[in-house]
Amino acid sequence: MAKHSPDRCSFCGRLKEESGILIAGMNAHICNHCVEQAQMIVREEFSTKEYDQLSEIKLSKPSAIKAHLDKYVIGQDEAKKVLSVAVYNHYKRITQPVDEIDEVEIEKSNILIVGDTGTGKTLLARTIAKFLDVPFCIADATVLTEAGYVGEDVENVLTRLLQVADYNVSAAEKGIVFIDEIDKIARKSDNPSITRDVSGEGVQQALLKLLEGSEVNVPPQGGRKHPEQKMIKIDTTNILFIAGGAFHGIDKIIGSRLNTNMIGYSSDKEKDIIDKERILQYISPSDIKKFGLIPEIVGRLPVLSHLNPLERATLRLILTEPKNALVKQFVKLFEMDNIKLSFDDEVLDFIVDKSIEFKLGARGLRSIVEAILTDAMFELPSKKSVKSLNVSLAYAKQQFVKANLSKLKVA
Ligand code: ADP
Repeated sequence: MAKHSPDRCSFCGRLKEESGILIAGMNAHICNHCVEQAQMIVREEFSTKEYDQLSEIKLSKPSAIKAHLDKYVIGQDEAKKVLSVAVYNHYKRITQPVDEIDEVEIEKSNILIVGDTGTGKTLLARTIAKFLDVPFCIADATVLTEAGYVGEDVENVLTRLLQVADYNVSAAEKGIVFIDEIDKIARKSDNPSITRDVSGEGVQQALLKLLEGSEVNVPPQGGRKHPEQKMIKIDTTNILFIAGGAFHGIDKIIGSRLNTNMIGYSSDKEKDIIDKERILQYISPSDIKKFGLIPEIVGRLPVLSHLNPLERATLRLILTEPKNALVKQFVKLFEMDNIKLSFDDEVLDFIVDKSIEFKLGARGLRSIVEAILTDAMFELPSKKSVKSLNVSLAYAKQQFVKANLSKLKVA
């Protein structure tokens, strides 16, 4: 420790001017840099306490988990069930006593959810996250692609989990990771010999290491690894991975498989039974492999589920029904300015119609409501006399036309 002086950090010797803040103790001073560093050391070294209460987790039954999801996510029953069971089993596995007499070890079953953009994959993941007491994070697979095929950056997925777990390694080792847009790291062809799309496959190989359960060195602050950096070892055996992706074009793969299978032994009538609008319900691991995920990854995501495209009726419900439905959110925003906001029913139908017309899906609903309400949100807060706003169809149409439609295109 540096010799004590009232205007120096007693730990690193920095002068008061060199550090942002100098905190005085009884016989010493400490600067903000040293506080931050000390905090990191404490977190890394001393990370066994709070989350160890995980062993006391109360098991939420699958039906209770699904009931919670029902409050926020409309429809998608099958995916909700699959997720609820997987999460329940995950809870059971992590609370299983280590010294079970029969030595039956429950293995985890990672999950793959396939569904169009904006059908609720992230919403499902987020809603589960809020409900759970285990560390949970969402990682974007497209970022991993950019980082290149060396694969070292794949570990950053676990950095986020570690941060969420407050650097408690044993807690992070029982967490759940949602990997979004996993389809974006598919290789472009089913045939590895004719493709040079190494980056997709390189990232898949690196990801595989995490999925199958191994000890991984994780940079505690993220970023690229470098020799001096202190790594934290994380065992991924008990981390549950939920992957999601839109898998654009997979409908054709499924369709051609279904047709091929039927040729020769089925009647035309049977062919008609295939619900073309909801073809994802017939998805199989072989389709995912054909799409470009390597067989090893497909094998490590044994639970396969799908989300249905959102129909008109579902979109209409999404506007008003979920606990934090869009309409409720805007009503609340206006309420904060003491304005009572209401919509005529036909306005809600109009919003849904436009969202379908512009192929914006559920994400477009918000953009359209924003477009309709922007003027009101701008003007009304400064008009003390206005105490309510009822949005009529005529007003909605007028505002919608005024808005620049190109803004509403989903990226
Ligand atoms: P994805 O991850 O599948 O691309 P999101 O979960 O991000 O889609 O959905 C985008 C938005 O659309 C959500 O924030 C939510 O407001 C709405 N949404 C989508 N699907 C549903 C649903 N089934 N129930 C309620 N809201 C939904």
